[in-house]
Amino acid sequence: MHIPMSHLQSLSNLLDSSKTIAQMSTPKNLGVADVGSPPSSMQLGLPAHHTLPTSPLFYKPFGACGTVTGSTHFVFHSASGKCFAVDCGILQGESDPLANDVESLPIPPNALHAVFLTHAHADHVGNLFAWLRAGFRGKIYCTDVTSKLTVISLRDSMNRQEPQDGDEALWDLLPTLFVCPDRKSTASHGRLFRVEGAEGLSYSFTPTSHLIGCAALRLMSMAKGQSHADIIFSGDIGPVTDSAAHGGLSPARLLPTSYSGVVVLEATYGDRDDRDPATLLGEERLKALAAVIKEAVSKGPKARLIVPAFSLGRTTDLLADIYMVLASMRGATGLSGDHIPVLNVESQLAMQYADVLRDAYAEKKGSGEYAWLNPHARIVKLGGLTLLQRLLSATAEPRQEHDTQDGKVVVNWGDAVEGQGLTIVIAGSGTSLQGRVCREIMKHSKDPQATVLLCGYSPEQSLGSQLREIAGYTMVERSTLPPLSFRLADGKSFWKEPADAVKINLADLSAYYSGHADSRSLMHYALSLGKPLELPMDFILVHGSNKARSQFARKLKAGLGQGYNFVREVHCPSSNYPWFDVAEKKWCFDDLGALRSSMRINVNERMGSGATAFNVALAVSRNLARFLKMNSPQVLDGKHGARFVITGEFANARISHEVLIVDLGYGDFDIRVDSLIGCCQSNDDFKARCFPWEAAVGSLDGHVELGYKPVGKEDEVSDLIRTIRDPQRAFPVLLVTKLGEDNTCAKFLSKSLMLESGIVRLVTGQGRIFGRELGLDVHSGVGIFFDEHPGNTPVQFSILHPLDTAPSFLACLNRLEDARRLSAAA
Ligand SMILES: [Zn+2]
Ligand SMILES: [Zn+2]
Repeated sequence: MHIPMSHLQSLSNLLDSSKTIAQMSTPKNLGVADVGSPPSSMQLGLPAHHTLPTSPLFYKPFGACGTVTGSTHFVFHSASGKCFAVDCGILQGESDPLANDVESLPIPPNALHAVFLTHAHADHVGNLFAWLRAGFRGKIYCTDVTSKLTVISLRDSMNRQEPQDGDEALWDLLPTLFVCPDRKSTASHGRLFRVEGAEGLSYSFTPTSHLIGCAALRLMSMAKGQSHADIIFSGDIGPVTDSAAHGGLSPARLLPTSYSGVVVLEATYGDRDDRDPATLLGEERLKALAAVIKEAVSKGPKARLIVPAFSLGRTTDLLADIYMVLASMRGATGLSGDHIPVLNVESQLAMQYADVLRDAYAEKKGSGEYAWLNPHARIVKLGGLTLLQRLLSATAEPRQEHDTQDGKVVVNWGDAVEGQGLTIVIAGSGTSLQGRVCREIMKHSKDPQATVLLCGYSPEQSLGSQLREIAGYTMVERSTLPPLSFRLADGKSFWKEPADAVKINLADLSAYYSGHADSRSLMHYALSLGKPLELPMDFILVHGSNKARSQFARKLKAGLGQGYNFVREVHCPSSNYPWFDVAEKKWCFDDLGALRSSMRINVNERMGSGATAFNVALAVSRNLARFLKMNSPQVLDGKHGARFVITGEFANARISHEVLIVDLGYGDFDIRVDSLIGCCQSNDDFKARCFPWEAAVGSLDGHVELGYKPVGKEDEVSDLIRTIRDPQRAFPVLLVTKLGEDNTCAKFLSKSLMLESGIVRLVTGQGRIFGRELGLDVHSGVGIFFDEHPGNTPVQFSILHPLDTAPSFLACLNRLEDARRLSAAA
């Protein structure tokens, strides 16, 4: 069989392109003076056909794609040739130690012109110091409060690491790099400011209600002779728009005032049902909190309420709320009028955080940006700024003078001290995976007078989540549960306690203290962004699990039916995605060329013994035309067989299949297909361009197998592993897994590999578990191709993100197919 030159060309191109993925390496310990020159756009991994881009702005996702931590994005401004990062967050709770390594970044920090920060949580700023060590010397754009909190948070996390030579100089340098538009201007929100050193590029910050200082970032490029490009990064946006009804707990959320065509949107709770609207009302929240305090007080004269606050913002939120309850609803708390409770805030970091909050509040009071600060507006109403400042200061004793009723309370910042009667301990540091709150919970785990108040996310394995698990059981039932087990700060020893020995009480107000928007609130924010001009927008979902992203993507698209009409496309990229052309709204995927596949069928049963290649081609072409809703193509008889080309639009994708039918004698025919894959924009695009084998040959041969056999039992898995590792093996093996209900890709790939010379196996969920134990790691939503030769590195193909790994995978399939065709021709 003659292989057309163009295919050999595209095959070698594919193999070449899989080899030339630029490996960026950066020396580990760059001193302050030792800064490399920025790499060219070619080295930055811009696709070849975009080395001279006419579009002004490109976006590349990197961190927090399919998870909530590690937020890091890149932007390339082609007019100035400058690269930027948006956030540089730490990936938390991942076992891969390389995840936060600067060397794994697609763009080395010393090649960045500037970094934009949306807010000061570690999952958005935590790698900044490591980037400084790696040579980043650009400006850091953020709000004034974010700049201060970032330094505090970095100082705190770096205290737990070995210092390096040159760190002191970097600590001196850091504050000089910040550019905060709200430092000088009294009304900076939503206003566009120029980015220094990048002509034509401007940015704006608009507050979002997640954490004090947090803001959505808008980047806009307007250069003469170039198209307009505009992108918004929502950052984390918080649960409510109406902070007045919410009791001022969150700062007000504003919307960027002008149109943006592309929005990079957080999707943390995209899969979470809309919460009870009552939980968004401040009044309800305080009532619920008063009830918890009353219950805690009823436990005895040594009552103790321990509150793992999980984040610094929530620490001050809770401090303010508890004070509000004691000041205005004392009757509902069960506390006597002359009782002065001690409110302990056990966190150094929370104290520094409160300082920033207090100062910012004082500074911005007279400015037009008062509303977005708005933390705890009711306290300000109640006792004025002075009361808030006292509440937030390290020596606070906000007693009688500002209170309307009996709001006497002593706030102690530092190690917890015992009060008379109820003692409240709020621990702001740690997530109950570490930190002081664990010590507090462990110390009181058997104390029936103590209560733990959960008020938000508890990471898996944390003490909080373990308590939540046993909470619903009686003591008798608890005796049958596994013991609570918690790894101590030294990383080695464990604290263990039988579940029925745990006598501490549990209360849960998590619904009232969430830091992220649920899907309704996300929808509201997302779709309001398009309102002013009602133009179509693209959403790129990040900062959420794949489940949260795909569910929210569906909701966003369904928004079309609810009177919204501005969603053009919703993307859920992986961290391997290429650059996104913001003006053209297109991913710069490589051209994947053609995918070649074939199948040998026998038509004697269906068509009788006299069938010719021409007859078979006619039948296949008609099947295809019906399936693709196109006209039947013209079939040509030639020396090598009968051929036809079917081309057109299918499922919004441009498709083209060249089909050749070769008569092998005795009713056997070889169907050889070259399918144009080209530059796909999405998984759906990719699927649409693959050859629909089932539709094409299904009616010709009813005995065509589905293409794979499930492997799930232990002996089946070890059998499979033996086959893969057999040194005598001379045929390829393809393993696929099913992703939820979607096995379209698995089916197709199985089909295209369903050769006499290879095997295809579907590894079930149970099979994956056995596989891991036996040394075969097959992830969910992945196809693994083991080449003909055992010992070669297998090629993984993600069914969830096929475009990530498609080039190398397609090259494998094509190589195999070419060998097959050559041997058939010989
Ligand atoms: Zn955050
Ligand atoms: Zn975040």
